[in-house]
Amino acid sequence: MRASDSQIKEIKDRLNIVDIVGSYVKLTKTGANYRAVCPFHSEKKPSFFVSPARQMFKCFGCGAGSSIFDFVMKIEGVEFGDALKILANKAGVELKRENPKLRTERQRLYEICDLACSFFEKQLGNSAWGKEAKEYLLKRGIKEESVKKWRLGYSPDTWQGLSDFLVSRGYKREEIMKAGLAVASERGNNPYDRFRGRIIFPIFDLNSQVIGFGGRVFKSADNKETAKYINTPQTLLYDKSGVLYGLNYAKLSIRKNNQCVLTEGYTDAIMAHQQGFENTVAVSGTALTPRHLNILKRYSDNLVLAFDMDLAGDTATKRGINLAESLEFNIKIIETYKGGKDPAEIILESPENWRQLLSKARAIMDYYFDSAFSSFDKSAPEGKKEIGKIILPAIKRIQNKIEQSHWIQKLAEKLGVKEEAVLEELKNAKTESAYSPAEIGRPPSPTTAVGATASQRKKLLEEKIIALAVKNPESLNFIEDRHCNLFYPKTKNLIEELRGGAVFADISKKEEYKELFDTLALRVEAEYEEDLTDDRQAEEEIQLCLSELKGIELRNTLNNMLDAIKRESDEQKKEELIKEFDKKAKELHNCIKSNGSYGRTSV
Ligand SMILES: [Zn+2]
Repeated sequence: MRASDSQIKEIKDRLNIVDIVGSYVKLTKTGANYRAVCPFHSEKKPSFFVSPARQMFKCFGCGAGSSIFDFVMKIEGVEFGDALKILANKAGVELKRENPKLRTERQRLYEICDLACSFFEKQLGNSAWGKEAKEYLLKRGIKEESVKKWRLGYSPDTWQGLSDFLVSRGYKREEIMKAGLAVASERGNNPYDRFRGRIIFPIFDLNSQVIGFGGRVFKSADNKETAKYINTPQTLLYDKSGVLYGLNYAKLSIRKNNQCVLTEGYTDAIMAHQQGFENTVAVSGTALTPRHLNILKRYSDNLVLAFDMDLAGDTATKRGINLAESLEFNIKIIETYKGGKDPAEIILESPENWRQLLSKARAIMDYYFDSAFSSFDKSAPEGKKEIGKIILPAIKRIQNKIEQSHWIQKLAEKLGVKEEAVLEELKNAKTESAYSPAEIGRPPSPTTAVGATASQRKKLLEEKIIALAVKNPESLNFIEDRHCNLFYPKTKNLIEELRGGAVFADISKKEEYKELFDTLALRVEAEYEEDLTDDRQAEEEIQLCLSELKGIELRNTLNNMLDAIKRESDEQKKEELIKEFDKKAKELHNCIKSNGSYGRTSV
């Protein structure tokens, strides 16, 4: 979908960034701007600012910032197209679509799902069986308010009750089938309702629109052959491999807690939310898929699995865990099922117990160790071999070499064997990488995250230097020619223009500097209003910034040199490179030492 520039402008004109950001985070007015604790990084002292005058936001802690669209993309974890939809909706702007036919089809499926959801909601508590279904839910501890919030319902045990209702509202039987709500009849009759005599759990997308349903059998006439749970099949709207139940309600809490708790059942997620554990979602009707993990990655790297699992047998779960590990999630495990209870039951009995279980969740490696060592005899040679078979692939998947070495030592120690033997076997261990990179959607790359942080930091430092120069033009004298190569080209040009005698007011009118200057202006306002910086002199501040920039550059150079050393086959050249490396490393060391720390200034 492509929106025209004029539509984007119209959306921007109609909305106020203060209202949009304010609906996600608590804003406090400070002078001309608003301030908040940043929703994108963890901090105590708020350094997140929203400027109504410039219709922009900026965090001076992590560097996040820009327009209303960037904010929605970041906080909702969605692509531009979806952010556009969300904001167009709020602004009351109707977007022109590229393919009106497809749009209409999707739109009608959304309408059908929503109508069906209302239909099921009405049935719950109304018909005789609907009443019983509701009593059953309440008895299981689900409160009235949760029934409403999650739009729980009941599908009557009739063949065409829902279909006839939807047809009366102007939808075709074919469309009802496409929404996954009806099934074609083999005898050539009208399609019949898929969900009959079931408690209905609507499934929402990230914007809380109904896209599918899960149904739990309840007083169905054809009791014998019916599966306990059925789900909407794959439709234009619903794909189980990409949907996590409850994520629409959980996403902000997952980000805030920087942790996501994964359960297996709808009621687990509902009960958890009801008791305030709002960072909980359910993986329903499927194992953890690459798409699930890619979605979760937008919100947090920390997963707590409250699954019923058996590492020796359950391959689907294991595949999900392996994949999560290779995507560098930190995984912890709660063994809830040992007492035969599911999370919903534990939470109902005692939220405190659940809190305890969460806080005592064990790291995945500890879990591998425990299950392997409790399943086999570590004193027998055969037992040692079997233990190795379970643990070694898990160790091999660990990306961080220091962490990996820790577990190698531990395994050798516990088995009472030499570390070299473990290392040797590690080479042969299969990592069972079950998914291809294409399936994952992007290659796991440990360096990108680090690189991005360094470059964000660099940007913040440069902004600070210019902000200082705006406040005290004489501070430009502290910047020497040799420093200029540390900057990004745009900053370099700007500083050179200023040092050459250009006037600030003139430069700030140039289009290429607009974004930078908007940010800077907000920064200067924030500084005057909130006094973000310590009471250091401008010179000291600039020196700190420059030296941290130098540190970033040196680290970068050292990383590149390390790669070159690894690749170099000529021994003599290698020797020279290593000497050069040592020299640069010393420089970095001095750079850090002269600043007392990593040369970090409060930008
Ligand atoms: Zn931030």
